[in-house]
Amino acid sequence: MSENSGFHIQTVIILAVFALVFGLLYFSNRRHAFSGWIALGFSAATAAYIIDSTRSSTTNIGVVFASTGLFWIFCLVIAKAIHVRCHAVFPNILAGLILIFATAAFTWLTFVALDISMRSVLVNVVAGLLLILSLPPLWKAGDRLIDGALFGVIATVAATFIGWVVIVYFLLDLTLTEQSYAQSTYAWIFQFTNGICALALAVVLLFAAGHDMVLHFHGQSNRDPLTGLLNRRGLKALFKTRPDHAQGAIYVRSIILFDIDHFKRVNDQYGHAAGDKVLQRIAKTVSGLCQEYGQVARTGGEEFAILTHWIPVETAQFLAHPELGSNQKVTASFGLAILTETDSLDDAMDRADKALYHAKQNGRNQVALAKAA
Ligand code: GH3
Ligand code: MG
Ligand code: MG
Repeated sequence: MSENSGFHIQTVIILAVFALVFGLLYFSNRRHAFSGWIALGFSAATAAYIIDSTRSSTTNIGVVFASTGLFWIFCLVIAKAIHVRCHAVFPNILAGLILIFATAAFTWLTFVALDISMRSVLVNVVAGLLLILSLPPLWKAGDRLIDGALFGVIATVAATFIGWVVIVYFLLDLTLTEQSYAQSTYAWIFQFTNGICALALAVVLLFAAGHDMVLHFHGQSNRDPLTGLLNRRGLKALFKTRPDHAQGAIYVRSIILFDIDHFKRVNDQYGHAAGDKVLQRIAKTVSGLCQEYGQVARTGGEEFAILTHWIPVETAQFLAHPELGSNQKVTASFGLAILTETDSLDDAMDRADKALYHAKQNGRNQVALAKAA
């Protein structure tokens, strides 16, 4: 064991813990493929460190190849994970070319022109290049703080891999053998630097995974699971973010509430599951009809709301028309309220609800316009 094995073992344990944590994140939510890739990456890094620590007691060249290969896989998998997270296409060919060239150069520096210092430079520069592959998608996606943080940390780590080794190479100017490498200051500096870099990466990646999950659950809490539409809370959140400056005299923003007519009969006649299917079908139809004009939400059991953008009055009236279901038996009653400048969503929905009540009272399958606020 080398003198620096204390640091080494700590690094191995910490990397293994991160591999485990990302693995758990993945298995607790399989849709989060990002965590799965990172878990794989940190497993490779852990294995690389363990194998690398046997280098002082063996000069087996296979060990050197294995630890280098795993270290590169670590960087490659991090880049892959970032692409998955950003929904970007991974540059397979470029990554393949880097790896082929790197393996050829590594083999050359091992068997043909043995130069261990130069080979270390190669290992780190290739690692840096593989990490740099993750930067373009982050740059494109980089309007959020977390993307910026990921970009900054990965760029710094890549720059460290590349710049630091070159500096050390020229400063130390050592002649090393396979045997003396493991005990050299050279090896110690790289293990130390790379260990710190891997930990910095782990922390920012974990933060990104946590951030994604919070966003995911936050998004879920704004949606209705049956239809995938916004729920009442999602509609409120949307209302807050909408611009509320008028866009001309004939343009209005409105809220249209509608409630399926005699929906109890659908359930009674065909069963609750069939009722659910009808609701899903209605949600899909209405979203399709309204996608240009506004946003549809499910505000209750068989009650829906459409919050329109600024649209002409006629369009609002057209949207609220009882032929909504069009397919056979389902009809609905509608209440339409035009939003005033000062309306809160609740005010407007109250008025639309009263109008809807009148539409029901008047015999259903019709639109009622709410009184002006
Ligand atoms: P109308 O609105 O025309 O007055 O009659 P209705 O029968 O639709 O009236 P009501 O509002 O009293 O009943 C709504 C029914 O919708 C009651 C409930 O069984 C059904 N419902 C509510 N939520 C769901 C749901 O998620 N799935 C299914 N299948 N049925 C639901
Ligand atoms: Mg109803
Ligand atoms: Mg109802």
